Amino acid sequence: MMMDSPLTMPQMIKRAEMLFSKKEVISRTDKGISRLTYREIAERTRRLASSLEKLGVRRGDKVGTLAWNHHRHLEAYFAIPCSGAVIHTINIRLAPQQISYIINHAEDKVLLLDPDIIPILESCRDEIQGVKAFIIMTDEDTLPETTLSPVYHYEKLIADGDPDYVYPDDIPEQAPAGMCYTSATTGNPKGVVYTHRSIFLHSLALGLADSVALSERDVAMPVVPMFHVNAWGMPFAGAWFGTTQVLPGPNFTPKILIELIEQEKVTFSAGVPTIWLGVLKELETGKYDVSSLRGILCGGAPAPKEMIRRYEQKYQIPFIHGYGMTETSPIVTISKLKSYQEQLPYEERLEIRSKQGLIVPGIEMKVVSAKGEAAWDGREMGELALRGPWIASEYYQDDRSKETFKDGWLYTGDVVTVDGEGFLKIVDRTKDIIKSGGEWISSVDLENALMAHEAVFEAAVVAVPHKKWQERPVACVVLKENASVTEEELLDFLRPQFAKWWLPDKILFLNEIPKTSVGKFLKRALREEVQKVLEAHEGLAAGE
Ligand code: AMP
Repeated sequence: MMMDSPLTMPQMIKRAEMLFSKKEVISRTDKGISRLTYREIAERTRRLASSLEKLGVRRGDKVGTLAWNHHRHLEAYFAIPCSGAVIHTINIRLAPQQISYIINHAEDKVLLLDPDIIPILESCRDEIQGVKAFIIMTDEDTLPETTLSPVYHYEKLIADGDPDYVYPDDIPEQAPAGMCYTSATTGNPKGVVYTHRSIFLHSLALGLADSVALSERDVAMPVVPMFHVNAWGMPFAGAWFGTTQVLPGPNFTPKILIELIEQEKVTFSAGVPTIWLGVLKELETGKYDVSSLRGILCGGAPAPKEMIRRYEQKYQIPFIHGYGMTETSPIVTISKLKSYQEQLPYEERLEIRSKQGLIVPGIEMKVVSAKGEAAWDGREMGELALRGPWIASEYYQDDRSKETFKDGWLYTGDVVTVDGEGFLKIVDRTKDIIKSGGEWISSVDLENALMAHEAVFEAAVVAVPHKKWQERPVACVVLKENASVTEEELLDFLRPQFAKWWLPDKILFLNEIPKTSVGKFLKRALREEVQKVLEAHEGLAAGE
């Protein structure tokens, strides 16, 4: 028999402290670049944990954070769970009503926030009576003016904290460690609770050679926000492995990201496709050296094939496409070729790698179609269901759990196909797929094809109601600067690639595609916008 040692988080930060005292965490702040070693970060983490206890934070209490990616947020990432409390990362881009709903639903006792978030919380202070303390994470020596009360200065709490604070050694591995809310299609956001065990095991998965192989040798820059599924787990795993971390701070632009990559010799970075599209646009305008990058992880939404090609062929930056969700910690699949697929011509390799990939070790999947389990033939579609040690088993105190969690599986709401090699491809969200005349049209495939046109910067396809066919696709396209193309030319471009009934009924040219708080296409808003445009043009309304 083997030891039943608990898989808990204190050992992760203790390892960083013990082994990587010289390695750095580099943060971009309002005042410039801050550099702290893991020794310093680990000491500040102990100090913060002791100060939170002095403020009355007890085991199981929720401590919310409203912050960008920076070293103080990283300290909170460990200080809160390692003292037995629960870190609740809150999406700062949500509307104040949603933020106050989330804070109340989670019952946050203390909030740590960046100075630019103060006005948001002031506007909803009356609604969040359960919050007993606000801690401002500022670079300034004094606290900014605020009506929030009681209010504390983060650095003062660090200065007054105990550098020798001892983490409790009896935290059960199944104890809650973190929390994150995911927005629902309708109604309020839904809470997901991560445990010490799930974070521990998910972090190990990030280190696997066939996942993203995060290691001590990396200089990792999570661009994905620390309030979006724990920046995909990179800050936790990075500290544990001794990875140098570059945290890009508030209000960054593509130019700032590229400069950080250049200056800090970033080897690995992660973000949603809109980030990488923006970075690509900037790369094409300037002279930058991004040769330090060994890979870019892109997930959260489908990565357009043409974008992958441009990164790889023009900039020699290997692109790694991955899939996951807030409910899955998030890593579920990673798209890397099998060794024998490396012999294939580039086009075929690109085709495979632009799929979402193979399930990572530790997670199980099934694809449920109307007929039962879908065949692995790359064609039969079904809903992806998942289970595993870093997959949620329920939403936090939410009746909607029973719609998503059934018979020990999480039903993702993603329609997928699986090919004969096991590569999973997201066809669409169940709610975004276009149901035309009893058949399904993948909005993702049409978008991908449109974004391969040289004049197109971004494209999103939505369903509009149709009298005869139930729904029909309408495409919205944003053109590149100074580019021009007509609707007919784009349709001609699509024609050889799709069956006739897949072609959009209409292509609209927009200045931008509305995005969610984490940078994905906001299809709900887009559908409404499209409907308005169509109605405004008599005769254009779909189905007429
Ligand atoms: P979130 O919980 O906000 O991270 O959203 C999760 C959802 O994003 C998934 O259920 C998918 O619909 C979508 N998603 C995540 N990664 C990908 C990807 N690589 N390709 C396509 N869709 C993705």
